[in-house]
Amino acid sequence: MNNDDRADIGLIGLGTMGANLALNIADNGYKVAVYNRTLETTRNFVADAGPLQDRLTGCESIGALIAAIKPPRAVILMVPAGPVVDDHIELLRPLMDEDDLIIDAGNANFNETNRRAAGNARFLGIGVSGGETGARYGPSIMGGGPRELWDSVSPILKAIAADYEGQPCATWMGEGGAGHAVKTVHNGIEYADMQMIAEAYGIMRDGMAMSPSEIANVFDGWNNGVLKSYLIEISAEVSKATDPKTGRPMLDVILDRAGQKGTGRWTAIEAQHLGVPVTVIEAAVAARNLSARLQTRQQGEDVFGAAPTRLAADALPISMLENALIAGKIMCYAQGFELLEGLSSANEWNLPMPAIAEVWRAGCIIRSTMLNDMASALAASPDSNLMFSDFFAARIRETQADLRRTVSLAAEHGLPTPALSSALAYFDILRTGRSTANMIQAQRDFFGAHSFERIDEPGAHHGPWGGDH
Ligand code: NDP
Repeated sequence: MNNDDRADIGLIGLGTMGANLALNIADNGYKVAVYNRTLETTRNFVADAGPLQDRLTGCESIGALIAAIKPPRAVILMVPAGPVVDDHIELLRPLMDEDDLIIDAGNANFNETNRRAAGNARFLGIGVSGGETGARYGPSIMGGGPRELWDSVSPILKAIAADYEGQPCATWMGEGGAGHAVKTVHNGIEYADMQMIAEAYGIMRDGMAMSPSEIANVFDGWNNGVLKSYLIEISAEVSKATDPKTGRPMLDVILDRAGQKGTGRWTAIEAQHLGVPVTVIEAAVAARNLSARLQTRQQGEDVFGAAPTRLAADALPISMLENALIAGKIMCYAQGFELLEGLSSANEWNLPMPAIAEVWRAGCIIRSTMLNDMASALAASPDSNLMFSDFFAARIRETQADLRRTVSLAAEHGLPTPALSSALAYFDILRTGRSTANMIQAQRDFFGAHSFERIDEPGAHHGPWGGDH
């Protein structure tokens, strides 16, 4: 084989993401060698690639894949996260040269990426968001690992990434698992964004007796304003769809039991480890877990009866609900960026906060207009909570009363709003200079002699409790 004919990059795993990424790479003028465990998938993939076939080399063994790539080689893994990635690293390493590179582009837990990077000098962990369409036409890519390795493959990654006003959404985040950590927090925020939209949907459906098509119109309207985002857009789309089997609105025939692959839970777990409050994300993860308890919920309705959810006419104008979502969203992102700060210092990464907001502006699931303003706010006020930046503080002043009214009305009528309520509680705690933790400290000292600080004197103190505790 003539050297020049060999592929620019290799890819293992032609599932939903891998197949689309390979086509995207080929579409951008690069030659890709591909391998899949089930060989028929590789054959069909190449056969069905139409005009892109010339840029694809289907390989029937990992050895053949390595031979088909120009050195120094880079091989992307797009296989399930976990042991399958370790198995592939073990298979690949003996066949590769020292300066060849392995790129794990799946949804790895970043702690595993840290471990793999520590044992493997030429390894990158990259987070890819955007689902099937993103992978094919432009995902958002969050890179992690040695900077010079990122630089060696970033021309390809930038070429295939989504584009936001001429800027590619592919950014190096830091060493080791930094890229996968940013992707994990992205997914945690995604859970929260989706949950808050679902809560607004619930208020409209059960509180206001609105039909799916009326709800679709509301989402369409919101998508022309501050809330403009992919998730609001698709919420309108799914609300409009009709079930081809029954002719009923699609949403009405979908079982109310949410699935999850665990990245939201990872976000909450990491936040707990670091002591960073991400209450909106935690509420969203818990809401998915509760949704899965279908039988228990039905039992609950039998025991207590359904709540009288119907709101009085005009009690909650749609503009008020929109403001509630705006406020909740800002508060949730403030928590997400605080978690990224925590992860950054715990792992000594120096994560680039404004660049993270920028890389999420296009291609990924949480892409939204608001992220552009967040990038500017994070650049202008790097050391403070996003909510306190001039821009978002003004937005919160305009909207927080509507969040409060929405959550109050929902609570009065038994409409569950765990994520929006958590956002409001977070806001209320953060604006309370004197909290109630003095009571906690007194209790701790009373039963455990843990001591407390006083407001008027330095040092550790005990209370005048006396007696045996
Ligand atoms: P799929 O299930 O569609 O594809 C999985 C691929 O991995 C297939 O090519 C499969 O080969 C291969 N594979 C599975 N198990 C093994 C194994 N034990 N040994 C060798 N090959 C194996 O997954 P996706 O494409 O959806 O996801 C791939 C990665 O991308 C995952 O880490 C996922 O979390 C992540 N991701 C997914 C997104 C999505 O929207 N789907 C978005 C962002 C990231 P075979 O054909 O032989 O079964």
